[in-house]
Amino acid sequence: DDAIDYRAWSHRAADWGADYLDSLAERPVRPKVKPGAIAAQIGASPPDGGESMDAIFDDFERIIPGGMTHWQHPRFFAYFQSNAAPAAQIAEQLATAFAAQCMLWQTSPAATELEVKMVDWLRQAVGLPDTFQGTFQDTASSATLCAVLTMREKALGFTGNKEGLFGKKPLRIYASGRTHSSIDKALWIAGLGQDNLVKIPTLDGPLFPMDAAALRQAIAADRAAGMQPAGIVMCVGGTSVGATDNIAEVCAIAREEGLFTHLDAAWAGSAMICEEFRTLWTGAEHADSIVLNPHKWLGTPMECSLHLVRDPETLVRTMAIQPEYLKTHGKDGIVNFSEWSVQLGRRFRALKVWFLIRAYGLDGLRRRIRNHVTWAQSLAERLRGEADFEISTEPVLSLFSFRHTPDGIADLDAHNLALVNAINDDGRIYLTQSVHEGKTVIRFVAGQFDMAEEDIHIAFDAITEVARSLV
Ligand code: PLP
Repeated sequence: DDAIDYRAWSHRAADWGADYLDSLAERPVRPKVKPGAIAAQIGASPPDGGESMDAIFDDFERIIPGGMTHWQHPRFFAYFQSNAAPAAQIAEQLATAFAAQCMLWQTSPAATELEVKMVDWLRQAVGLPDTFQGTFQDTASSATLCAVLTMREKALGFTGNKEGLFGKKPLRIYASGRTHSSIDKALWIAGLGQDNLVKIPTLDGPLFPMDAAALRQAIAADRAAGMQPAGIVMCVGGTSVGATDNIAEVCAIAREEGLFTHLDAAWAGSAMICEEFRTLWTGAEHADSIVLNPHKWLGTPMECSLHLVRDPETLVRTMAIQPEYLKTHGKDGIVNFSEWSVQLGRRFRALKVWFLIRAYGLDGLRRRIRNHVTWAQSLAERLRGEADFEISTEPVLSLFSFRHTPDGIADLDAHNLALVNAINDDGRIYLTQSVHEGKTVIRFVAGQFDMAEEDIHIAFDAITEVARSLV
């Protein structure tokens, strides 16, 4: 009999999770492991016989946590955060107990209906009109892929899926050179090459928006050359330095040109629950498609990417495939979310959104995001005040970049790369570097759900102490 005591081990796992979260601040954010060190501790072949949960759990505790980068650590300031608020983690455990496959309304009615409601709660929370509906995709990459496929199909009169692209006019999609690589990848998967993606130059900081005049020229030149413009991907809060397009201006051009627009606000979109930050995406209500990731800044564990669209029929016409056993869409007002996405099988994602918003309230979520923005900006000011530091790109919400520029260092790029590695080896905080206008810069982004102001002071100390120890 290899039945396990599900109740006892679930309790043990819950205790372990609670102790783990309590212990985070004492752990180094990034583990000090060498490549291969974890794999060397895992059996070479699968066991033929079942093992005891005691043995498995012991190995888990011995091998895994010490090899993890701690994304819930309050001093994780790298990449963009991947938050998992405690209440939302609990919802995720419950969703796992159902282990439901939520492809159709009838395969999980509650999951589908809660998803419709949670998408609408979030739509209201970020201040968009009720002309938008949507779904939870796994990631922003998937939402962007769906948007690019929609651009393609719309431009081809919905013939691409059936006939392929051979012999058709080359399609062109426009985005600034500062958008995320998931846009390039979406084109590849949609059967469009890198040459079909026109990277529009950007204007100067602090927001580095797409140059609207260059966009107009590129569209006109493509039409004149016999190509077919299909859509524009816009960005709010880009990954490297927070680049943000002028959404109202780009949407106006798209309207004149009859082009489909997709807005990637994967990170910054969560901040739109605070009214005062919405100027960053003024005009977003004119976009055809918007993605933002509650799994980045808002507090739901991965995977939870809100994909809003103004015309679900266009998306469903692009993405739905209906063998006989799936033909339930649209009957009795039923929504089948697998027809809005690449995946057929899908998790119950809405439960964690419901728990999150109810447990903390929008006010609790707003308070956290406002704190992150205020604290990151205060750190930028403190670093600006130090003679041997410069702010390389100004804060966009809670993201800025800086460089250590002491006198007498010949290669400042190599020095700042060495600095980011030394800071991460120190363990108190975790940062990542980027290249901005040819120079290595160090990114700082605040956003961990349970961080406190004290963590920003620790960050200042870690950055300045480690930097000065290197010269
Ligand atoms: N867009 C932006 C601006 C991002 O910063 C990221 C990831 O950091 C993505 C898209 C991709 O998000 P995902 O990992 O959900 O695919």
